[in-house]
Amino acid sequence: MFATLSDRLASTFKGLRGKGRLSEADIDATAREIRIALLEADVALPVVKDFVAAVKERARGEEVSGALNPAQQVVKIVNEELVAILGGETRRLRYAKTPPTVIMLAGLQGAGKTTLAAKLALWLKDQGHSPMLVAADLQRPNAVTQLQVNGERAGVTVHAPEPGNGVGDPVAVARGGVEEARRTLHDVVIVDTAGRLGLDAELMQQASDIRDAVQPDEVLFVVDAMIGQDAVATAQAFLDGVGYDAVVLTKLDGDARGGAALSIAKMTGKPVMFASSGEKLTDFDLFHPDRMAGRILDMGDMLTLIEQAERTFDKEQALKAAEKLAGGKGEFTLDDFLSQMQQVRKLGSLSKIAGMIPGMSQFKDQLDNFDDREIDRIEAVINSMTPAERANPKLIDGSRRARIAKGSGRAVSDVNTLVDRFFEARKMMESMARGGGMPGMPGMPG
Ligand code: GDP
Repeated sequence: MFATLSDRLASTFKGLRGKGRLSEADIDATAREIRIALLEADVALPVVKDFVAAVKERARGEEVSGALNPAQQVVKIVNEELVAILGGETRRLRYAKTPPTVIMLAGLQGAGKTTLAAKLALWLKDQGHSPMLVAADLQRPNAVTQLQVNGERAGVTVHAPEPGNGVGDPVAVARGGVEEARRTLHDVVIVDTAGRLGLDAELMQQASDIRDAVQPDEVLFVVDAMIGQDAVATAQAFLDGVGYDAVVLTKLDGDARGGAALSIAKMTGKPVMFASSGEKLTDFDLFHPDRMAGRILDMGDMLTLIEQAERTFDKEQALKAAEKLAGGKGEFTLDDFLSQMQQVRKLGSLSKIAGMIPGMSQFKDQLDNFDDREIDRIEAVINSMTPAERANPKLIDGSRRARIAKGSGRAVSDVNTLVDRFFEARKMMESMARGGGMPGMPGMPG
């Protein structure tokens, strides 16, 4: 989402590299470039103005004299200012003292509310909560069914009006849902409400009525980050019409320029709490301003990566593999290789992961070609090997390769490539286990 902005800022900083001190003219030129970069990214004008003024003032000030060189200092300032406009601290969900905690979702139709309701429910469930979804969007045909389907995928209970009950009363459904949750000991209730394609008074009224009826602990305004500047206008209208505690940005995986994400917290004074970045139920997390800023500046986002890895990786298996290598108790086998591939797949697309590792975004295009199907092919080939071959790949001679190719429906050349790749990976794993670091991996930018 922030590719163009990242590139622009990177080239701005590049221009400062090697400078012993920044002249007034350097600072002016840098400020101008940052201004253009932000405007091109669709950031709201008042936000851009404040941002540039703050950077300029700080760059001119005494800050430029410490241990960092001027270019690093400017990156640091821009980073800190980005974190500030993104809302500063991570805003976490506030739970009610007496359960259930009631969370109400509001936003336009198509913002991604229904999808988000299920994502949030799954996220809560993963943290040990027992959430219930309430389908109070009775406006959009299918919204109830969609929530039921998504709820089922997330493995959470959905409270919905009885089918055939006509249009129904969303306020009554919402209220009934909260009562049901209290009775059945669900500790969090997520109320999905109706949206329209555009703003209208009736929509605002309905949302306000539901809010008054269920007294939510958190009202979350859900907005599609792809709608650019309109996101800010819509956010303002909902703030005036319904009111909310925090914002949820959806579709951050899209290729919009990201201005909405950068403007909304500052313009509304409400923090962004969650971000949704894909169609899968797990493409969802707390929004961390510092990490987002780091990602925009392409300084990597190791924390997010580590957290995601922890969430999806099979820790036991990873530990076993690591112990095996470190203790010299065995060799990295094709079974380990396959399980690593499968772990990587659980993390999401490789190009997405690459975006979070410092310096890796340059390989994005290559990684885009390495897709899920590639892993399927590798899996098919490895599954056609005997256990002995997988444990000791050196056994795999010409005639075995032909048999494996036939069994997996692949060409012999595919088997050859895989075996070569495996031996390369093993070499790398062994050198890492000896503490040699990852060969060919560029370090953090200076
Ligand atoms: P609602 O009308 O606000 O309930 O919106 P929906 O939940 O029905 O979402 C509208 C569309 O956006 C659906 O096609 C979703 O699959 C899609 N969608 C929702 N969240 C995301 C996201 O984070 N990324 C992408 N790419 N699509 C999303």
